Amino acid sequence: MTAAQPANATALSLLKSVWGYDQFRGVQADIVRAVTNGENALVLMPTGGGKSLCYQVPSLLRRGVGVVVSPLIALMKDQVDALRQNGVRAAYLNSSLSLQGVREVEAALMAGELDLLYVAPERLLMPRMLELLEQAEVALFAVDEAHCVSQWGHDFRPEYQGLGVLQERFPALPRLALTATADERTRADIIQVLGLQGAHLFVSSFDRPNIQYRIQQKGVGKAGPKSELLAFIQAEHPKEAGIVYCLSRKSVEETAEWLSRQGVEALPYHAGLAPRERNSAQERFLQEEGLIVVATVAFGMGIDKSNVRFVAHLDLPKSMEGYYQETGRAGRDGLPSTAWMTYGLADVVNVRRMLAQSDAPEHIKRVEASKLDALLAYCETATCRRQVLLTYFGEDLAEPCGNCDTCLSPPQTFDATKPAQMALSAAIRTGNRFGAAHLTDVLLGNLTERVSGLGHHQLPTFGVGKALPERAWRNIIRQLVALGYLTTDAAGHGSLIASGKSRPLLKGEQTLWLREEMLTTPSKAKKDRR
Ligand code: ADP
Ligand code: ZN
Repeated sequence: MTAAQPANATALSLLKSVWGYDQFRGVQADIVRAVTNGENALVLMPTGGGKSLCYQVPSLLRRGVGVVVSPLIALMKDQVDALRQNGVRAAYLNSSLSLQGVREVEAALMAGELDLLYVAPERLLMPRMLELLEQAEVALFAVDEAHCVSQWGHDFRPEYQGLGVLQERFPALPRLALTATADERTRADIIQVLGLQGAHLFVSSFDRPNIQYRIQQKGVGKAGPKSELLAFIQAEHPKEAGIVYCLSRKSVEETAEWLSRQGVEALPYHAGLAPRERNSAQERFLQEEGLIVVATVAFGMGIDKSNVRFVAHLDLPKSMEGYYQETGRAGRDGLPSTAWMTYGLADVVNVRRMLAQSDAPEHIKRVEASKLDALLAYCETATCRRQVLLTYFGEDLAEPCGNCDTCLSPPQTFDATKPAQMALSAAIRTGNRFGAAHLTDVLLGNLTERVSGLGHHQLPTFGVGKALPERAWRNIIRQLVALGYLTTDAAGHGSLIASGKSRPLLKGEQTLWLREEMLTTPSKAKKDRR
């Protein structure tokens, strides 16, 4: 393969002959071209978007072996098997191999008999492995699930931070980082750790139009959340494959057992189960039709089952990123699927408490708290959920989607233009440096130590919002965050910043309607000030 030649024709015929596909999807072709030409790239593409081909095709087009770093040991074998079935000379190296197995793969690597080699990060970083790779002919390095480098992400892996070594030891080889997590901070960390300054950035749309997003309040009817789940499954996805996410191992087991007793076969999956049990649940889920897995977030990273028809959350995910990734496991085949969630105030209190009690350093806790707030705002939005979701990932969807609960049955709303203006000017007049709690104090006219210390009681906004209760303000502020009128600061201090989007609203050129029911819901939750 000569480097100067655009990949297109060769790449297409390879795509057809090896994978049987007629066309590249979206940005795939551009990525393949760039990487084949030896350039670095960062790829942000949603789950199911087709990241694998972005490194597999260039690995075959370039001389030498494509080395793929992946944390998903459990899935390497599946991926390698699938590639081999297509005639690709693929292998993997991880802790599941015997010494003999490792030696065989290493020999194949050195003999130039491999097209693709999947390696666990801790294995790649071994001095011996790096030396072997220096002697072998390597086509490229692909770092899959690249968000694992970031402490700010939801899946930090310390080994990933060592991957900066690729840039140092193999400066001439193209590096390709891939992730389905798109927020700014994670992106910046990936670029920094992997040395991808100046690399091509490929962002494909995170919209998954075939997934219907729905969220309902827990305990609206008498039936508990499990019964609501059962009713949902029976009404909409009987005998179809699905994943149900719960927060704790205990609720995973209870829910799986309960569903099975109701005649809906469901297998539990969590990190506390024996590896054998976990593997068997995973295998059965992949192979059988219409099976449900009830799981903690330990399940599903990289699961490639295309016909998962629904993902249900009985507990709140920790962040929008988590929610997006988890729900993204539904409908990878493009057919109609449902992302269903039930949540209540208790869940909010629960995740908040877990967050507060975690051993993480303060600044990380603050980031997590603001991520959680964004998720809550999403839960409470009165506008199209898909628009809120995509806005969070920096994308604009011009029209409401028509395929989420708020589009399908719009909730009660009220004209919140005035209160929104008050909240936004509170943020601006305090210098866009404070979080929801302080802004609320200013709006309510609470003379806290902080307020008086900063002289904020002298601002014209001080006390303008007395007519509404504190909870109403917190909800309005959260909804303003969800809709992008307020943004959070990149440094993670939890400051709320009035964005450019808020200008027409402040100038009175726009009216804003917010969800009403949340304002009257009595709050049993303890006030929580961060
Ligand atoms: P990701 O890693 O981004 O989650 P995958 O690489 O596993 O996604 O691809 C998701 C699914 O889409 C796979 O079943 C894959 O075979 C399919 N796919 C990817 N690219 C194409 C394409 N160009 N044409 C048809 N199917 C594709
Ligand atoms: Zn919608």
